[in-house]
Amino acid sequence: MPERKPAAVLTVGSELTTGLRVDTNTARIAAKCTAAGYRVTEAVTVADDRDAIAAAIARLARGNELVVVTGGLGPTHDDLTREAASSALGRPLVRDDRLAEQLEAVARRHDDPVARAQVLRQAEILDGARVIPPVTGTAPGQVIDTPSGLVALLPGPPSEMLPMLEQVLEGARSVAEPVVLRCARILESDAQVRAQRALEGRADVELSVLASPGLVDVVLMDVGCGREGLAEAAQAVAHAVGEACYSMDGASLPEAVVRLARAAFVRIAVAESCTGGMIASAITDVPGASEVFVGGVVAYSNSLKTALLGVEEDLLRSHGAVSREVAEAMAHGALSLGADFAVSTTGIAGPSGGTAAKPVGLVWVAVAAPDATNAYELHLRGDRQQVRQRAVVNALDLLRLSLERA
Ligand code: ATP
Ligand code: MG
Repeated sequence: MPERKPAAVLTVGSELTTGLRVDTNTARIAAKCTAAGYRVTEAVTVADDRDAIAAAIARLARGNELVVVTGGLGPTHDDLTREAASSALGRPLVRDDRLAEQLEAVARRHDDPVARAQVLRQAEILDGARVIPPVTGTAPGQVIDTPSGLVALLPGPPSEMLPMLEQVLEGARSVAEPVVLRCARILESDAQVRAQRALEGRADVELSVLASPGLVDVVLMDVGCGREGLAEAAQAVAHAVGEACYSMDGASLPEAVVRLARAAFVRIAVAESCTGGMIASAITDVPGASEVFVGGVVAYSNSLKTALLGVEEDLLRSHGAVSREVAEAMAHGALSLGADFAVSTTGIAGPSGGTAAKPVGLVWVAVAAPDATNAYELHLRGDRQQVRQRAVVNALDLLRLSLERA
């Protein structure tokens, strides 16, 4: 197995250490570096303090082949990363004439001479650094060769940082992009065991399993298998996890549903009680949903279930709103909105309203397809919000399976 090269991430900014801004750069940089074949050993955040930034850069640069630093590269007095890196790496700051020329145009827009001078500070680079020209903002990035590898200084705003990071990692990529098998309605441990079994004896693929409520991502990484080897491994794992896997190309569950409906030239509708429109919201998050999604009904009260979905009062009286019969009637009723497939939810999200026979967390989901309507009894864990969120995932996934079989 080829050794993964060590890398570190350093984010700079008092807005991060005081909690005024959430550090999203670290996660994105770590993911990109990992995908490019690095092993991220450390992620550090420091305040806008020249000595603290310099100490962190000096330490991280000693042990890592790549150090990605973001933030503090702008024009203002609290932007200290340039000076700190200069002293940490023992490279004086020098003016880059090309950058200075480009920045002159920006500087001229300022009346204040102090502001003009500040803009021009951004033309200063560490001696010998490779400049990454600004893509969207004004701050350039810089890449410096050190005895142990590279130090990259990138601006803080994510939209400026990300395209520059791509440039830094270009060429460094020595492994295939990870493959993510996205799964629903499977336990994390089951997914893990099945994937591990499918990968038995393979030391050239690294497996990690990430769970969020109702969903599990199985991530396969190239640690020596190469692109084709990873594709083979992904096929084997997909076979092992079976129909729980809804996408292998990054598509979300609602995206998978929309894509399947589009491919089958069918239209879908929803009839929601306990999920209160969350399924419709998830579907309409997907660009292009209008091609397949006709809409739906939030029928929370019994009277609306009858008036808008044609659920018979008798059915509601004899079985209760949270029942197989009512879920099926709701899904069936939603077909008359002009859909070929419809999904319904009716359940007890809590915290009150549960009984011994119908406890909190009981949710019935029904999927009406052109040929049949099927209902599913679910017992979902968590508080009200989690029960509703899990109901959405389950309903979308059951709809997805029905569309796959169509
Ligand atoms: P600028 O030219 O915009 O001043 P800069 O390199 O000096 O660039 P900062 O001043 O450190 O960057 O940060 C500018 C803005 O970028 C912050 O207000 C914040 O919104 C965003 N930002 C900085 N660092 C991060 C981070 N680690 N995660 C997410 N957003 C960040
Ligand atoms: Mg700044």
